[in-house]
Amino acid sequence: MRYCYAYLCLLTLLAVACKSPEEKPAAAKERVVSVPSFSGDSSYHFVKMQVEFGPRIPNTAAHRNTADYLIGQFRKYGASVTTQDFTASTYEGQKLALRNIVASYAPEKQKRILLAAHWDTRPFSDKDPAKPRSSFEGANDGASGVGVLLEVARHLGRQAPQVGVDIILFDGEDWGYDAQTADVLHGGDRNFPLPPDLQSWWCLGSQHWAKHKHKPNYSAYYAILLDMVGAKDSKFFREGVSMEYAPGIVDKVWSAAARLGYSGTFVKQNVGAITDDHVFVNEIGRIPMINIVHYDPVSGFFGDYHHSQSDNLSLISPEVLGIVGRTLLQVVYYEE
Ligand SMILES: [Zn+2]
Repeated sequence: MRYCYAYLCLLTLLAVACKSPEEKPAAAKERVVSVPSFSGDSSYHFVKMQVEFGPRIPNTAAHRNTADYLIGQFRKYGASVTTQDFTASTYEGQKLALRNIVASYAPEKQKRILLAAHWDTRPFSDKDPAKPRSSFEGANDGASGVGVLLEVARHLGRQAPQVGVDIILFDGEDWGYDAQTADVLHGGDRNFPLPPDLQSWWCLGSQHWAKHKHKPNYSAYYAILLDMVGAKDSKFFREGVSMEYAPGIVDKVWSAAARLGYSGTFVKQNVGAITDDHVFVNEIGRIPMINIVHYDPVSGFFGDYHHSQSDNLSLISPEVLGIVGRTLLQVVYYEE
């Protein structure tokens, strides 16, 4: 019995010894990639610069000057920049001179990631009971996404990832018309006509780009939209349109955030669909695009600063900008 016992022990030891090397390689396979360190403070600076131009309302000097600034920054960070100048109508028939800005890195590379945000500001804070017709800073709604992408561009210019990257700043996202606008600005008149072949007066720049891409037959492996990504204590949920068209990309981004310790900000919980530039990039542009957007599932809407005077620089948190930016760089630099 003793012998048998010892023999059994030996067999067990052998089995353990033989088994363990097989189990190890799976864990050892993880690639380690050097990802540049995104600065939330630098990103905040880019948000502040935009706000200081004044609200980026189409057909104003602040809008034109900001476009020049953004193009200059992308060139400084080594991108090839092209612009799309076009005219679009608002729901009231006002003609807007709009400008989409496209900054490309390694345009010769086949595999490309598209990153985007809108750079215009809504012309009125129609959700602000005290000042529904006034302009507002739009520090979060517009400037925050652009602020993150300028900091991303600064790193792309210094250290190239394996994939090509295009950054598109869409114009004319935020002159839309909804029940709130009708009630507050137009005495309840909800009869402004819809555009003939489109669903919305929102997202004029992305609608134009999706139909007239900056390069014929342009496509991207996938795309990530940022909107309202800088407010203190923001949380980002798995948004409905993103989950419909690109659930694998949502998973990739939310998992990257979790690896960095940001699962409290990137919450793995589904919420409803939002009309934003990604709708048109998916439906007309045929590129799978997700949206990282601050949303409050309790109120069922965006933060209470949305389209009001409190969307100003005091709302913006370098920490939140950093969380979003580091997650983006993690995703882009690990792509091969
Ligand atoms: Zn908006």
